[in-house]
Amino acid sequence: MTSLSEKTWYEVEEMKNKKVIIPIGSIEQHGPHLPLCTDSLLVERIAEEVGERTDCLVTPTICFGISEEHMDFKGTLTLSQDSFKGMVFDICTSLQRHGFSRQYIINYHGGNKKYLIELIPKIKEMGIDVSLHRVLGRLGKFDHAGEVETSLMFYLFPERVRKDKIERFQYKIPEGNGWRTKDYSETGVIGDAIDASAGRGKQYFDKIVNELVDEIQNDQYR
Ligand SMILES: [Zn+2]
Repeated sequence: MTSLSEKTWYEVEEMKNKKVIIPIGSIEQHGPHLPLCTDSLLVERIAEEVGERTDCLVTPTICFGISEEHMDFKGTLTLSQDSFKGMVFDICTSLQRHGFSRQYIINYHGGNKKYLIELIPKIKEMGIDVSLHRVLGRLGKFDHAGEVETSLMFYLFPERVRKDKIERFQYKIPEGNGWRTKDYSETGVIGDAIDASAGRGKQYFDKIVNELVDEIQNDQYR
């Protein structure tokens, strides 16, 4: 069992030198067929698997991120960058105070990335050896509730997919920075969800997990 929060403090005390994974997701719209918590569900499952295979502890998922680009769609929750950075910083330094100074942030949501890159040097200044690891970025295609994410959800959480809402959604791939999803897609989907399958989801999941295990075992990051 890798979950930090499921342990007692006595159990944690015996684990001082363990490495720790901090998964980060988002609560943001994922079209008509996937729930708002998609990023957080997926990163949690990925982190659990990576934690098992690398003997790392895994903190609870930071389920809120910076999702301003999706705020035109109902239900999306976004943090200010100060709140987001403050929360990540406080969790990293709390872990360090208990002796966990090798930390791996697995960030799922692309909108968080810029702020995490800005924050990492400040965490390192505290004497923490932290590295940032991406999830979907390594698959080489842009996807938001499209073929990749819908496939992952079909594979890992099929009961949460509204299958009857999937169609050939119209979209454009956003370019540059500061884009808003509504300018590229009326439904909020950017990608071909209709091509999704559990089989593809398994392939993506295995690739993501295998590469993350490799990075952590070799203490590298990409
Ligand atoms: Zn997503």
